[in-house]
Amino acid sequence: MGLRGIDTLGSLEGLVVGVRLDLNTPLKDGEITDDGRVHAALPTLRELAARGAKMVVMSHLGRPDGKPDEKYSLAAVAKRLQELWSGSVKAVSQVSGAEVQSALSEVAAGDIVLVENLRFDARETSKDTEERRAFAEELAAPLDCVVSDGFGVVHRPQASVVELVEAKPSSAGLLIEAEVKVLEALRSNPERPYTVVLGGSKVSDKLGVIDALLPVVDKLVIGGGMVFTLLQAQGHATGSSLLEADQIETVKGYLSRASELGVDIVLPTDIVMAESFAADAPSTVLPIDQLESGPAGKNAIGLDIGPDSAQHFAEIIASSRTVFWNGPMGVFEFDAFAHGTRAVAAALTEVAGLSVVGGGDSAAAVRRLGFDDDQFGHISTGGGASLEFLEGKTLPGLKVLGW
Ligand code: ADP
Ligand code: MG
Repeated sequence: MGLRGIDTLGSLEGLVVGVRLDLNTPLKDGEITDDGRVHAALPTLRELAARGAKMVVMSHLGRPDGKPDEKYSLAAVAKRLQELWSGSVKAVSQVSGAEVQSALSEVAAGDIVLVENLRFDARETSKDTEERRAFAEELAAPLDCVVSDGFGVVHRPQASVVELVEAKPSSAGLLIEAEVKVLEALRSNPERPYTVVLGGSKVSDKLGVIDALLPVVDKLVIGGGMVFTLLQAQGHATGSSLLEADQIETVKGYLSRASELGVDIVLPTDIVMAESFAADAPSTVLPIDQLESGPAGKNAIGLDIGPDSAQHFAEIIASSRTVFWNGPMGVFEFDAFAHGTRAVAAALTEVAGLSVVGGGDSAAAVRRLGFDDDQFGHISTGGGASLEFLEGKTLPGLKVLGW
């Protein structure tokens, strides 16, 4: 089955269209530090405006506790969206209800009403289907139809991702269509050698991905915060680095399955061990069997892959025909620990076949490190979503769109 596209909704002239986007952008001191997801949302918004619709835009931001929290307000996103949008963008302080209705009565076709962070209401992420459905009905009340385009959340069974889409005539937006097209090419018929590079800090989320990807990839290259659990599984001490201690046994199983399947799991051979978690922390490059031998001993924290590893990873990546990369190789937000991530990003730009970067922080990293989006085959707005797609899982937010 294929995704239902915007065309299936018929004429949108004069209608109110709810648009579920992923505008979950990184913020620092109340300002957006990477607006990639806002840009990625524009084609669908332009398409709907061209068809004469008013739009109610909805998104989550971060993980507030199911209640309003200034820190997670979409205010900064509203400001950026208004800078990029030719019509008006009216931000309301509620998620649904009277304020949304009255804002809608004040705007014209082609204008946007941006509701507040959906996760300010605990029912958005509730485990209880009835609660989610009740919330979705409130969201749906002012809408004629729904366009779902928040690719970064399609793996989450949440009210605005599933129940809202079921509540009204609905379709996928252009971003979801584009993402699915590229990822489907990776999933069904990748040119080989096919290398997947994993890193980042959502360790427990991502360790399971290793197992799921083993049957499909030729090489699995691993760095970032998740690597220390693998190094421990191989018997290395890792100081005070990020660790998922209860996963070590599971990971040992992955390592032996990889060798049975003939898949290379490529781990770093050296690590940049810092004396503390800070931008200016003194650090030492150490081989993986001596990570506690530096001045900070057991207190040292691995914040980046070392230069030998970075070079080795880059060679593997550049000589692959298909590469998918999710998760920074180190704490790239600190310049001193961005080298591994920069080396991997640079190698991806040299891939002769298809190179895909996935994940909010990974996409932010390549831009922060000075790369252009068009140096890569595709930059996916979804990290968890793209990984689950590549694993072959059924994603609830795509299933309701006919996928
Ligand atoms: P993505 O958003 O691309 O899916 P994640 O959210 O999993 O990636 O991880 C991104 C974060 O991982 C970054 O903020 C980065 O600082 C952090 N990170 C990378 N390597 C390490 C490490 N060795 N120790 C701690 N954090 C790390
Ligand atoms: Mg992230």
